[in-house]
Amino acid sequence: MKTVSQTATKVMAEVVTDLPHRRVGIMGGTFNPPHLGHLIMAQQVGDQLGLDEVRFMPDAQPPHVDEKKTLPAKDRVNMVQRAIADNPLFKLETAELKRGGKSYTYDTMKALKARHPETQYYFIIGGDMVYYLHTWYHIDDLVKLVTFVGIKRTGYPTTSQYPVIWVDAPLVDISSTQIRHKVSQGHTVRYLVPDAVADYIKEHQLYESKPTN
Ligand code: ATP
Repeated sequence: MKTVSQTATKVMAEVVTDLPHRRVGIMGGTFNPPHLGHLIMAQQVGDQLGLDEVRFMPDAQPPHVDEKKTLPAKDRVNMVQRAIADNPLFKLETAELKRGGKSYTYDTMKALKARHPETQYYFIIGGDMVYYLHTWYHIDDLVKLVTFVGIKRTGYPTTSQYPVIWVDAPLVDISSTQIRHKVSQGHTVRYLVPDAVADYIKEHQLYESKPTN
């Protein structure tokens, strides 16, 4: 049975997360693994746009990625939690993991917006994603639900057919692909991922090249 104070705490938590006109950044991604590029962009956007919080939202199964090639969601979430633990601006958003199946941003944001209509959502994406916005599912409706925020990424233009706020952040040429490759080759990823993520990768022997038989 719930005590009165447990109920009060729950009500307070709901009130706090549902303040009207909250301005919330959402960073969707596979985070396989999360790296300093993600953290730098989230911090820069949060600071420059004066957001109340920035949520990291791991996808359940990205629409364009073979499920078998993606790390289990549990490991990706554990790494995101470790990466953001020391920053009060950063939160974990589990909406896509809870729903499961294919993660279309339009479906996710429609559901979040229906639950919190007063909240303004800023969807943060790298320049590589901005370039392909026209291919996103229901993009014409999605741009009415969220404001897109772009971060320049090496090798991609800063033009878009859709409205995007470009935030001036340092160009960071780190990718999860590069991290996985380095680990598999036995190289260090120190200073490319937070120490807690590097430790997690080591402890769970992630991305190490496996013998073929
Ligand atoms: P992968 O190499 O596996 O494709 P990734 O490094 O692009 O992964 P994701 O988790 O797929 O990481 O990316 C989440 C979001 O962060 C995407 O919008 C992506 O464009 C953006 N992003 C990732 N790394 C950078 C970076 N170094 N600079 C700018 N944007 C980035």
